[in-house]
Amino acid sequence: MPKLLYLDHNATTPIDSTVRDAMLPWLENEFGNPSSVYALGRRASVALTTAREQVAGLVGAQPSEIIFNSCGTEATNTAILSALAIDPDRRHIITSTVEHSATIKLCEHLATRGYEITWLPVDKDGLVDPDKLETSITSETAVVSLLWANNETGVLFPVEEIASITARKKIPLHLDAVQAAGKIPLHLETLGVQYVSLSAHKLYAPKGVGALYVNRRARYTPLLRGSQEGSRRGGTQSVASIVAFGKAAELAMNHLPTSADRIRTLRDRFENTLLSSVDGVRRNGASEPRLPNTSNLTFTGIDAETALLLFDKEGLCCSAGSACSSGSINPSHVLTAMGVTRDEARASLRFSFGRTTSEAEIDRSIEIISRIITKLRAAQPTEGSPVHMNA
Ligand code: PLP
Repeated sequence: MPKLLYLDHNATTPIDSTVRDAMLPWLENEFGNPSSVYALGRRASVALTTAREQVAGLVGAQPSEIIFNSCGTEATNTAILSALAIDPDRRHIITSTVEHSATIKLCEHLATRGYEITWLPVDKDGLVDPDKLETSITSETAVVSLLWANNETGVLFPVEEIASITARKKIPLHLDAVQAAGKIPLHLETLGVQYVSLSAHKLYAPKGVGALYVNRRARYTPLLRGSQEGSRRGGTQSVASIVAFGKAAELAMNHLPTSADRIRTLRDRFENTLLSSVDGVRRNGASEPRLPNTSNLTFTGIDAETALLLFDKEGLCCSAGSACSSGSINPSHVLTAMGVTRDEARASLRFSFGRTTSEAEIDRSIEIISRIITKLRAAQPTEGSPVHMNA
């Protein structure tokens, strides 16, 4: 088995050993229900309080504004449906063409129920035009829901400008910060956003736990009714996972000032080396503002899925499109929305680096990628047409 070269941190992250150690007692002796009144339950409840403070600390919010749930997808569904439920007469939603499937699938479903959806376009850099957002808002608009950081390209939307428009127009704003949290500083307190989606497994904590930030001045109605989370999200909390999320948030906060620069340097070295040493390579999306860990590259003429299989044989993990659609042959909706042709989108790969990525891994990855791209191109029957190899 070749040594693992994990360059897919936007898909998910390994669990940090400190995070695992923090969660273990809550999987063993500390099994109490946080709603129980005896000491075992009270300790679990205190653990949730600590985790809430830690997650709030990472995003610059008040602990009372953090509602724990099962994942980023639940957070996004809850935020949008909450805004619609609060103002049932308003049946217009504004989002963008490059959102995560959590938003796209919900909005497509709502469209079949008579809601009007405005899909804001993006330019070739992957950015929305705030003026277009402003002119799309009508008296019918119930909510604006946009990504903070794109999971495929790492491109950052101009969230301050977006928030100032929605504040002026008095429209609730939901931001999907699943990829942004832990990678760039977030200051929700001063941003003026109503709802923000977060997910633990992008921050070196387990899958199946997330949170929705709800600004304390925002109106909100739950998706899952029950008495937990202050009646804002029913269902007994997954204490061990939430403790892990809290510890991961604390670590992310401590690491952020140094790790972001280190990862950016490695990412830039990776990207610049491939751009300068391999023919027909192009970056997708704006160079800046962008997450420091993400690089999306087109290798003209190759078939990304075949490349993924050949990389896999060498232990290298990256992805074509988003994690949720890898394995599918559809070109990425994010890249095609940016004006990348379907053939070029099928020749594109996302590399996303993490806290443990080393210089040696970057060098080895560059060597493997260059060699396999050359091999794929050499096997290419006619210029420009993607080649499928038996990987
Ligand atoms: N939003 C973005 C931008 C994501 O990248 C993801 C996960 O890939 C999600 C939402 C969904 O998060 P979860 O996997 O916790 O449901």
